[in-house]
Amino acid sequence: MNKIIILTAPSGSGKTTIANHLLKHFDNLKFSVSATTREKREYEIDGVHYHFLNIESFKQQITEGNFLEYQEVYPNQFYGTLLSEVKSAWDANKVILFDIDVKGSLNIERGLYDVLSIYIKAPSIETLRQRLILRGTETSESLEKRIKKATEELEFAKYFDYVVTNDQLDRACRIVKFIVEDFMK
Ligand code: 5GP
Repeated sequence: MNKIIILTAPSGSGKTTIANHLLKHFDNLKFSVSATTREKREYEIDGVHYHFLNIESFKQQITEGNFLEYQEVYPNQFYGTLLSEVKSAWDANKVILFDIDVKGSLNIERGLYDVLSIYIKAPSIETLRQRLILRGTETSESLEKRIKKATEELEFAKYFDYVVTNDQLDRACRIVKFIVEDFMK
């Protein structure tokens, strides 16, 4: 069965660093570049971090059945996993790595794929707030949106195969790598 690894975590929880750590260590892992309608951040590259689409194109892709899953993660901001991303990874015999939200994760049909799901938890909501402020990518409004979502998502951590608390980033990286190594066997 084709393998999917799902990393789910609130913005600012260190998930990107953990994902990059995994990609560096596992040659047969490919990051799934999601499509999104949100604004591109200054450092982001279209096609590398996300495929940035306007709402009309995103809705067109939905109509054409091109998503494995998609969510309106924030009001009027859509994010989705394109089937083309997943297929190209599997065609190359790779395991695909998803960075998607809780609802998207729960919508992946477990019977169809071999799925490993890992929830990365920040030590506390206050730590998360501090990290997001330090990162400096959010306006106060988008920061509050992210904190609210992180608080709601915590309820769903129990549905994941593993929950890893990121109190020390290098330690969280090592733990996640260990879990993934086992799944890759
Ligand atoms: P950000 O805007 O901070 O990059 O991401 C916001 C949220 O969208 C994160 O929780 C991220 O995991 C989620 N997300 C990114 N891509 C996808 C996707 O393809 N599908 C779903 N369901 N969520 C996604």
